[in-house]
Amino acid sequence: MKGVGPAKAESLGKELHIFTYEDLLTYYPFRYFDKTKFYTINEINTEDVFIQVKGVITQFQLINTGKVKRLVATLKDPTGSVELVWFQGIAWVQKTLQINTEYIIFGKPTLFNNRYNFSHPEVESIHPEEEKKASHFSPVYYSTEKLKHRGFDTKGIARITKQLFSEINSVDVEEFLPASLIAKYKLVSRYDALFNIHFPSDEALMQQAMRRLKFEELFITQLKILQLKVGRNETVKGYLFEKLDIHFNTFYHEKLSFQLTEAQQRVLKEIRRDTLSGKQMNRLLQGDVGSGKTIVALITTLIAKDNHFQSAVMAPTEILANQHYETFKSMLDGMPVSVKLLTGSVKGKARKIILEELAEGKIDILIGTHALIENHVIFQNLGMVVIDEQHRFGVGQRAKLWQKNEHAPHILVMTATPIPRTLAMTIYGDLDVSVIDQLPPGRKPIQTLHRFDSQRLAVFGFIKKEIALGRQIYIVYPLIEESEKLDYKDLMDGYESIVREFPMPTYHVSILHGKMKPKDKDFEMACFVRGETQIMVATTVIEVGVNVPNASVMIIESAERFGLSQLHQLRGRVGRGADQSYCILMSGVKISHESRQRLKIMCESNDGFEIAEFDLILRGPGAIDGTQQSGATALKIADITKDKQLLQMARDDAKEILALDQRLVLPEHQQLRNYILDTSSQKTIWSKIS
Ligand code: ADP
Ligand code: MG
Repeated sequence: MKGVGPAKAESLGKELHIFTYEDLLTYYPFRYFDKTKFYTINEINTEDVFIQVKGVITQFQLINTGKVKRLVATLKDPTGSVELVWFQGIAWVQKTLQINTEYIIFGKPTLFNNRYNFSHPEVESIHPEEEKKASHFSPVYYSTEKLKHRGFDTKGIARITKQLFSEINSVDVEEFLPASLIAKYKLVSRYDALFNIHFPSDEALMQQAMRRLKFEELFITQLKILQLKVGRNETVKGYLFEKLDIHFNTFYHEKLSFQLTEAQQRVLKEIRRDTLSGKQMNRLLQGDVGSGKTIVALITTLIAKDNHFQSAVMAPTEILANQHYETFKSMLDGMPVSVKLLTGSVKGKARKIILEELAEGKIDILIGTHALIENHVIFQNLGMVVIDEQHRFGVGQRAKLWQKNEHAPHILVMTATPIPRTLAMTIYGDLDVSVIDQLPPGRKPIQTLHRFDSQRLAVFGFIKKEIALGRQIYIVYPLIEESEKLDYKDLMDGYESIVREFPMPTYHVSILHGKMKPKDKDFEMACFVRGETQIMVATTVIEVGVNVPNASVMIIESAERFGLSQLHQLRGRVGRGADQSYCILMSGVKISHESRQRLKIMCESNDGFEIAEFDLILRGPGAIDGTQQSGATALKIADITKDKQLLQMARDDAKEILALDQRLVLPEHQQLRNYILDTSSQKTIWSKIS
């Protein structure tokens, strides 16, 4: 392109991944300056929105506090005055702007000392023709420092985009959405949409463009994910689990001490159907904390055993693997099923024996961490893989499972806490989804309270009352890697003050954290499980897995430092018995608005699905564990937290089209197919989930 030499082109590629015309066309502005309207100063009543004001600068004032220097200008119009503030580039501003001259300023007003001010606004002097040119929405693009130095600030990017439009016309921008969809949703053409997303002359055109491009993006993404699924169903054979035999029957009729909930039964039926279909199962099992996913996994491995297949159960941490191992062992006690544990700390001879037995088919269920998928771990006949807490397992790690047997084993993925539907559709869009939407009977909803550090004495009093009733208490401290030392100190200080407040011999306090030797951890845990200690002071090592029904109070220290799903996980450690349980979130008084909101949501809701939705809204898809490389964040314009409805439409339409024309060979799908082929090579492995 004219005006973009090799050096500039290279930095566009490096910094913003713009290599082609198509890339530039789809490098969308993230907002607009609304230059269609001038605000009068007395009309300003919002913060955080970019607006345009016309006025005269009446004075400059240089304020130097020693530490920071700032330049403040007063801008007046007939209705009032505002302040413009600069912290940088002061000399330049003083040189270019003049007193008693009229300017147009763009910026975001903020309220300070009861007055609106604009910090670092864009300022333009008034020329009649400029004013005319400026009477529309002008696009604002993300750029980087490096690019700004090469002339590609927001205006520079707008300039080359505009130039691009002068070189192409509507014929060059091919329409690839099927005509039926365009008609159905009254979508504008691709060319019009691209033009108007960059240079809309009014709000309506911009909205139409946005709707079309969001739909297009979601539709293409869904089409690709679903094609993957369809393709896999066609080409990948699955092992048949035809029989329900002695292992399943013995367990189900003689061992299982409770009745499965309807939701658990329904999920088992779904798994049964999958493993009888001749195709490989790829199923995501979602269920709230405590909804009983483990038992579903266990029964599934017994069905595999009845059909002479081995199973692998993978967990993200050693503690959780251990916990599953203990659960499986005790539930299968007395049955002829061999369950073994393989983690990083199983070494030497013990490890060798496990590997040998595994290869000989003597082990039925192998439970472990990542260690399970190392190349030298060879199964005799692996048929079923359960992955617990999916989101911490990398895509590559899962892909390794495919090489473990002649055909790919069935895969059941279980999430630790629910993930929002929209996110599930985007990252796990190729998996079938089962939901356990029901808790085992007899659970009382946990009462959650937020208390400030200053109310600690009252909280201690409450703990004493609960202990007098025979209950047990968890007190959890955050342990976050970056500040590990400090956190560790907090934990130890906390422990000491708890011991002081709850002295022996009336009380016994356990402590559990990651730095302890496994032996000591086990000891402390066992004391708590047996009820010999009443209080367990711990880090988040107890986040997953621990199951002590008599524990009825969960105190979370510095709760503002935890994410929502982590808080929900922690809270899920209580409320497992018949007693009323409590979760008390402790924090200082000075916490951020977002933290306050998070704690409020926790107090108001016990529903993991609802909490997951809030988490997504508060933090955005990029911040949710494990989704960074997943594609949910690779969306350029659609936002799964806001465009739920469009996403559902796009998914339904993609399904419908594939049902009709799986390979997109019909003439009306020709362009669609080409577009997907053209753009697929750049798309990464994220969609190839299991
Ligand atoms: P999660 O879904 O969080 O992994 P678990 O599988 O650990 O939940 O189950 C939580 C607890 O509920 C366990 O003690 C388990 O034995 C128990 N449980 C599971 N299903 C039922 C049921 N249908 N009836 C009663 N208790 C159940
Ligand atoms: Mg679990």
